[in-house]
Amino acid sequence: MGRTQPANYTLSITMDREVGGESLVFIAETRNAAEVAELEELVRELQHGCKVRLVSLGPVTAFAVKPKEDADEAVSSLVEVARILQAISPRYTKTYLQQFDATAYRIVEDLALETGARLQPLPQCDLCGKLDPFPTTLHARDGDNVSSSAGTYCSHCVASMSAASDRQLVADLIHADRRNFGTYGSVQLAKTPRRRGRHLSFTARACTDAVAATG
Ligand SMILES: [Zn+2]
Repeated sequence: MGRTQPANYTLSITMDREVGGESLVFIAETRNAAEVAELEELVRELQHGCKVRLVSLGPVTAFAVKPKEDADEAVSSLVEVARILQAISPRYTKTYLQQFDATAYRIVEDLALETGARLQPLPQCDLCGKLDPFPTTLHARDGDNVSSSAGTYCSHCVASMSAASDRQLVADLIHADRRNFGTYGSVQLAKTPRRRGRHLSFTARACTDAVAATG
């Protein structure tokens, strides 16, 4: 790539921040399509008070779940989520309930491979490659809507930034994730974001210089 002209433009950057890294994964060995459908229905019900993401569907059906931090509904903690899932466990030949982590995912992967269940795509961290069912995400869009970039970050990477504020976290992630945000050069965030729950939106100024934009 050749040298490009320095450019100065406005960006809109939004972050959906995921708090609390812990989630559970519920894995059930099913006997028939009716049991799979029953679990899909359970996933829909849980979505009222929890964040839920399917991990595998079929003879081995698995989903990751964590409470919504801003929900008024009954499900308020991981303990309570675990209680609901333990109560339905006896209906299935075999179930596992554990914290979602690399080991738990490998169990699902192995079981899915053995039984022919369909693994569902999970978000992958753009900094360390780790799978995270509930990542923090960043989106940047330029004022003319000509270009946009997005990044996905696991709870471990977000925690390791030890950012003092949401604004600092956005700045740190943009700085760390050169692959997705490198083309914007240096980015100056406005002081105050617009905030809707965990959805933050910043106006920013991007400044690319001729050297930074090469290659
Ligand atoms: Zn990561």
